[in-house]
Amino acid sequence: MKKLHYCSNCGEKNSFGRKDGNIRYYCLKCETIHYQNPKPTATLICTKNDEILLVKRAFNPGKGEWSLPGGFLELGETLEEGAERELKEETNLNGKVVKLIGNCSYFNSIFGDILLLGLEVKVDDWKDLVAGDDALDAKLFKVNKCPKLVFECHQKIFDMYIKNKI
Ligand SMILES: [Zn+2]
Repeated sequence: MKKLHYCSNCGEKNSFGRKDGNIRYYCLKCETIHYQNPKPTATLICTKNDEILLVKRAFNPGKGEWSLPGGFLELGETLEEGAERELKEETNLNGKVVKLIGNCSYFNSIFGDILLLGLEVKVDDWKDLVAGDDALDAKLFKVNKCPKLVFECHQKIFDMYIKNKI
């Protein structure tokens, strides 16, 4: 949980304790309850026959390591819109979300509590594949020979996908 020492509504020092069914920060002066929620993150499984698309990360966390494509949703986006935008930004590919594979919750010291939503995405045309600004590289690996994924939740979503396939 992120520490919220001061009320974002009135600037008073927050109190901390049980409120509305959970441990939260809240303000006694203006009565604002500071709810905190996980950030939804689209995590993409894009396969071509027996190969899977991975990206080499350009930024921390996990800079220089391989991961599934994806990222945080922007304000006002649906899950599908966010997934398809991230795919385009990182790999230049156009695709359509096919289905939800599963999800994984993770606390990250940089971004706080995130909820990774694993999605299967069908790519329109693989010829468009080029690593984007957020990625050092983007390429297909044989599913049974791909490098270890940098995030535990990416590995879990990958495993869920493989398990469902068999
Ligand atoms: Zn307040």
